[in-house]
Amino acid sequence: MKITHIGVIGAGLMGNGIAHACLLAGYHVALVDTFEAALPKALATMSKNMERQIAKGSLTAQAKDEALSRLVTATSYTALGTAQIIIEAAPEREEIKEAIYKALAPLIGADTIIASNTSSISITKLASITGRADKFIGMHFFNPVPVMKLVEVIRGMATSDETYNTIYALAESLGKTIATAADAPGFIVNRILCPMINEAIFALAEGVGTVTSIDSGMKLGANHPMGPLELADFVGLDTLLEVMRVLHNGLGEDKYRPAPLLIKYVEAGWYGRKSGRGFYDYSVTPPKPAR
Ligand code: NAD
Repeated sequence: MKITHIGVIGAGLMGNGIAHACLLAGYHVALVDTFEAALPKALATMSKNMERQIAKGSLTAQAKDEALSRLVTATSYTALGTAQIIIEAAPEREEIKEAIYKALAPLIGADTIIASNTSSISITKLASITGRADKFIGMHFFNPVPVMKLVEVIRGMATSDETYNTIYALAESLGKTIATAADAPGFIVNRILCPMINEAIFALAEGVGTVTSIDSGMKLGANHPMGPLELADFVGLDTLLEVMRVLHNGLGEDKYRPAPLLIKYVEAGWYGRKSGRGFYDYSVTPPKPAR
């Protein structure tokens, strides 16, 4: 079956990036968000990001217009009736995803595949809600989607080979490299990355280094493009704490215990870049260490 029509649920940070990537790869995209104001905002973000690609010479103005002409936006799931693959990027709450899958069931084709962009919820568990567990899979993109090259593909217990192969081919057609991961907490990237960042926060709290020495240590000593504390601010400290809790609860080992300083920062509302303060203070340019 040739895939031509993709549905995307949720027009937030990830949904608009996923729609952007699918449009530029030539697909027709139906982007659905139940919060009406999210749709023009997503469209403006996509348009601005495509303009940036035009300025860099990686996209033509004509390709942008053609891409956006293949987009429909809607607040109702009925717009997903023609989608052959639906990528769900709604908020990371099980009850929200569950309600979406239940609402979709009578509206979509019998062969339609549903892929969830969840970062932390069990694919097998989500699949069981859909009534089409063989046609359900995890497709985990990274932020910002048009730039980041990786997609983790996660099979649930019942995901069929056909579903896996179709999603693998879709990710490749978007120009992504695929890392296939088992359905385990944090999959591959968050399982390894988040404990490393968490350890950097323990090291900061224990006075092993300052914000600056920890970040330059890992940039220059381990060749990381961003220091772990700078990266924590970029990801969002609330999100990082949530992932650590998923790893700690799911794997049950002390080594995944969230750093108490991370918990304190989140309690203070210091979420990183998005709140203007985390391990760095973003009210000044360039941002300076906040402690
Ligand atoms: P977001 O809050 O930016 O966007 C979610 C969107 O979903 C919002 O526009 C909201 O209006 C919409 N929405 C809420 N309820 C809905 C419903 N019932 N039906 C349709 N739309 C609905 O969130 P995000 O950061 O884009 O995250 C989306 C998903 O992607 C989550 O599962 C998250 O774990 C995952 N994810 C996030 C990142 C990241 O870096 N933010 C990375 C990888 C995966």
